[in-house]
Amino acid sequence: MVVPSPSTATPAAEFPSFLSPRLDAADTAIIDGQQPSALALALDHTPALPPSIISPAFTPASTVPSTPAPIPVLSNTSSVDTAAGPPSSLPAVLPEVECVVRARIPTTSGTEIFLHLYKNNVDNKEHLAIVFGNSIRSKSLDRVRDDETEMDRMIRGAYVGRLYPGRQTSAADAAAVAALDAPTSTSKTTLVRIHSECYTGETAWSARCDCGEQLDEAARLMGKENHGIVVYLRQEGRGIGLSEKLKAYNLQDLGADTVTANLLLRHPADARSYSLATAILLDLGQKEIRLLTNNPDKIAAVEGKHREIRVVERVPMVPIAWRKDQGGIRSKEVEGYLKTKIERMGHMLDQPM
Ligand SMILES: [Zn+2]
Repeated sequence: MVVPSPSTATPAAEFPSFLSPRLDAADTAIIDGQQPSALALALDHTPALPPSIISPAFTPASTVPSTPAPIPVLSNTSSVDTAAGPPSSLPAVLPEVECVVRARIPTTSGTEIFLHLYKNNVDNKEHLAIVFGNSIRSKSLDRVRDDETEMDRMIRGAYVGRLYPGRQTSAADAAAVAALDAPTSTSKTTLVRIHSECYTGETAWSARCDCGEQLDEAARLMGKENHGIVVYLRQEGRGIGLSEKLKAYNLQDLGADTVTANLLLRHPADARSYSLATAILLDLGQKEIRLLTNNPDKIAAVEGKHREIRVVERVPMVPIAWRKDQGGIRSKEVEGYLKTKIERMGHMLDQPM
C-alpha cells in the first residue's frame, strides 16, 4: 500500500495505514439504503465517529439482507411457506465440508452428545455440529480414508456404538452396541438449531443478548428427545467478530440500537451466512428438518438456493423471561435487543404485554 507523503495526505491518511479511511460516497449510499431514518436519528445523538473506529471497509452481508418490512407471522407449528423462492443472495454452490473428528461428550445435564468438528473450503474456522442421540451419522466422517487403520478410525470418531478399553474394530460389535442408550425414535423429523458463536452471551454471562439462554434451551429440548442437532457456527457478533461487536456495544451505550450500531461501524446489520450449516446438515443426512428459530432470514438461508434442505416446521424460541415468572434473562439491554430483533429484523415473536 502506498502511503501518501505528509504534504499530500488527506485528513484520513494522517492516521496509520491500518486505521480505516473515511466513508466514501458509495459506502454511505449502502448504509443509507439499509436504514436511513434510524441511522440519521442515531447520528443526531451520537458524536461523529472518528475514522479509527469504523471498519476499514464495508463488510458485505453474506446472509440474506434483513428487511424491516412486515413479515407474516407464522403460528407456532405451522409448516413453513417459502414458495416465494430462495433469495438471490444465497450462494449457488454450497461449501464443501468434512467432519474431521467426532467425540462423545457426557454433559452436566446427564445427556450425552456427540461433538462433530468440521473443516470446510471457505474459511479456516472449526465449525461444529452438536449431535444429540446416536442415530445421526456423518457421511464424510464415516467415509473410509486411504491407508487408515481401525485405530485411526476409532481415534477420529468413525466408530459405531461406544468405545471401550481394548476395542479393536470401528465397525459395530455386540459390546459396543449393547453399551448404547436405547435407540432414539426417528419417527419425528430432526429438531435443528443453527447457533452462531457468542462469547459474551455464552461465556461472559452477558445479559445484552439471549444467545446463552437460546443455546441452553435448544440443548434441553434436544436432550428431552435424545435426538437433534445444534450447528454451531463460528461467526461471532452476527459475523463481524468480537472486537467489532464490543465497539458496537459501546455505541449501544451511547444510544444506538443493535442494528444501527452495526451500520455506524460500516457493517451490515447481519453479516452471517448459513450455507455452511446447510452443507453440514446434508453431511449429517438431513433433508427435512424442524428448525428452532424466530428468524425468517435463517429459514430461507438454511434451505439453500436450490432448497437442498426443507424446513418442514418452525419451532419458536420464546425467551424464558416471557414464559415464566422466574428465570430467564431480565435486563433493560436484553429487552431493547429483543425489541430491535422484532421491529427491525423481522423476528417472529410476539412481545408480551
Ligand atoms: Zn449473543
